[in-house]
Amino acid sequence: MSVMERPDPLPGPGQLLVKVLRCGICGSDLHVRDHCDHWGRMMKSQGYRASIGSDQEMVFGHEFSAEVIDAGPGTRTRLKPGTAVVALPLIRRGLDIELLGLSAHSPGAYAERVVVQETMTMPIPNGLPAADAALTDPMATGLHAVLRGEVTRKDVAIVIGCGPVGLAVICMLKAKGVSKIIASDFSPVRRAMAEHCGATLVVNPGKESPYAQWRELGFINDVAGAFELGMSSKEQLDQFPFPWWHLWSVGERLGIGKTRPIIFECVGVPGILQSIIASAPQFSRIVVVGVCMQTDAIEPAMAINKEIDIRFSLGYTPLDFRQALHMMAEGKVDAAPLITGTVGLHGVESVFDMLAKAPDQVKILIDPSSEAVIL
Ligand SMILES: [Zn+2]
Repeated sequence: MSVMERPDPLPGPGQLLVKVLRCGICGSDLHVRDHCDHWGRMMKSQGYRASIGSDQEMVFGHEFSAEVIDAGPGTRTRLKPGTAVVALPLIRRGLDIELLGLSAHSPGAYAERVVVQETMTMPIPNGLPAADAALTDPMATGLHAVLRGEVTRKDVAIVIGCGPVGLAVICMLKAKGVSKIIASDFSPVRRAMAEHCGATLVVNPGKESPYAQWRELGFINDVAGAFELGMSSKEQLDQFPFPWWHLWSVGERLGIGKTRPIIFECVGVPGILQSIIASAPQFSRIVVVGVCMQTDAIEPAMAINKEIDIRFSLGYTPLDFRQALHMMAEGKVDAAPLITGTVGLHGVESVFDMLAKAPDQVKILIDPSSEAVIL
């Protein structure tokens, strides 16, 4: 990585030029720096045609807050120069839509200036500080995962991994009023943050299982328990003077007996999914939010025995993004504790090296106007 002078980017039709206030360093940036070609091939196979490759110059940065400087042709000019904004990192480039900061042709916000799509840009409400606003992307990712999990207030949520994404999930679960939030992480610093964000029980997976409370929480722990549930339910219903199948279908509609936790996988390394399948209670719903970019193995028969429900969560919608922004601005979630440091552009390289091996760091922001090179 290097810091260099580049010409100011020019806003095209429907685009704005903005001055970057803060930009978050994301785990995917770390991954793409080291495995750019692999990531590019994977995205290409999914119909993403942007130029990504280790032979290309790229400006990272897709989690940012900014201030409007100028507008391209055909903009609606609702957002006047000087307005503090955030934007979804999607931009039109000809017939394609590219991810800002994840394409050689759509430079991102590890920079003083960046071009954004006007329709993807939203004003920062309530004077929310630029640093907090830069967390809209990870917070929206957490919100989207919680929505994918269809979590209700009565559910038990278990969050595996308390990095930026896991902590964002915890913040959103708490904001939703979920009363049982179990969080698990090896790092004591991250466990303390999880508690601060709203986890009701925080465990060190090196010492105890995040699923250890299954009995108190009313879950069935294994297939033997599922057999017992099926057989004893039938035996009990046989004692009533009504046809058992009517009672059974009423019970199914009311969801009797089939309680399960919703488990958020926020680690994203090979083996974690299988370890969750192996230890999770019967009928668990797993929402995969951690981005594992390697091929990973699971044992489907084990997931079948437990009738595990696995869902994957990708980013967020514009509505999730707006909601996350407004939840922060209205004080419904406090994301500021996730920020563990801020550096200038010249500090980025050393932060990348450090983040790869510092489990106590969570979200580090870049302030392009800062000269700071270390945290
Ligand atoms: Zn990201």
